[in-house]
Amino acid sequence: MIMSNGFKAKRSDAQHGVRFRGIFKRFGEGPQALTVINNLNLDIGRGEFFSLLGPSGCGKTTALRMIGGFEHPSEGELLLDGEDITGVPPYRRDVNMVFQSYSLFPHMDVYDNIEYGLRRKGIQREERRKRIAEVVGLAQLEAYLGRRPTQLSGGQQQRVALARALVNRPKVLLLDEPLAALDAKLRSSMQTELRRIQQEVGITFVFVTHDQQEAFALSDRVAVMRAGRLEQVGTPHELYSRPATRFVADFVGQSNFIDGRVEPEAPGVLRAKGGEVIPLPAPAEAGPRTIVVRPENVALYPAKPAQLPADVALLRGTVLENTFLGSKHLLRVKTSLPEPLLVEASHEAVNAVSGGAVAEVWLSWRAADSAILAD
Ligand code: ATP
Repeated sequence: MIMSNGFKAKRSDAQHGVRFRGIFKRFGEGPQALTVINNLNLDIGRGEFFSLLGPSGCGKTTALRMIGGFEHPSEGELLLDGEDITGVPPYRRDVNMVFQSYSLFPHMDVYDNIEYGLRRKGIQREERRKRIAEVVGLAQLEAYLGRRPTQLSGGQQQRVALARALVNRPKVLLLDEPLAALDAKLRSSMQTELRRIQQEVGITFVFVTHDQQEAFALSDRVAVMRAGRLEQVGTPHELYSRPATRFVADFVGQSNFIDGRVEPEAPGVLRAKGGEVIPLPAPAEAGPRTIVVRPENVALYPAKPAQLPADVALLRGTVLENTFLGSKHLLRVKTSLPEPLLVEASHEAVNAVSGGAVAEVWLSWRAADSAILAD
């Protein structure tokens, strides 16, 4: 069968569950207008568990609400499975949203809450029953079907809200900080539940949170947002080990930032402020550069290690501070760099250093365990 180019283009768009194309969102008019989403271009794959992560006010809820149709872009296009849904009202989108507040009907029991949307859509009784049984099983709500929302715990209400959304079999499920109201322990078990349910149903989940650990625990990929823009998109592992910017590195864990210059004749090393020559994970363009090294990637030695490969950084230092964290220690070590370095070390490594009353320690890391920041 011969396909036109247009059809092909549509097919390739259809690989993406949700596609933001050049989206701007402004609130207000004229010079007073507030740009909340600033040229957002983002593809969320079908069946992905995708999180929008960022500090309060960065625009993640607004981005989510645009997928749901509760906000409309000021500019740009929004596609769902390849189809332009920019102007389509919420009730005609194949999308459901789970709110932090659950928004259950207080006067209906669990069964009726779940059934409500199906009745409104005019789905036949037998089909309703089948679908409800399916989501009740998924969300493990069998024991609570006759209860009203006030007779349920926060976690149970959350599962009802989830079941009520999933019963519509949407293409995309939107979740706006759905676990924020739960205590730490319940939150962690609901994370496991959410992940399991998403994998069983295979629906695209778009999850909004300002909690990095939560985003990492749940997601296939995460978009880090800052002031209405995308800072970086990647798997949790990519964001952690290869943060593109200082903001991302800082937002997703503890970091050591080392500023310096790369000279044109030596693209493989950073000449740090303080004079140290530090090997880079890859050749870099000449100019001022910053690298990031995670505290757990810095090794601690009581004496200068005898033989080290060329792609390892080595610095001499003195321990300023040693914080015991239970399973490990966090040290602050002064070196010739302007800022002290954070070093995560085991009991053994710390004993080896402090046991012999050594004033001097040595630090090293593999160039491959550092990352060059784009900014
Ligand atoms: P949070 O985690 O605090 O919910 P967020 O990243 O989800 O933050 P948004 O709710 O998307 O942020 O809001 C982004 C910005 O847009 C904020 O500065 C907010 O005050 C503003 N904003 C959101 N909705 C409106 C509105 N209807 N009118 C005017 N400004 C708005």
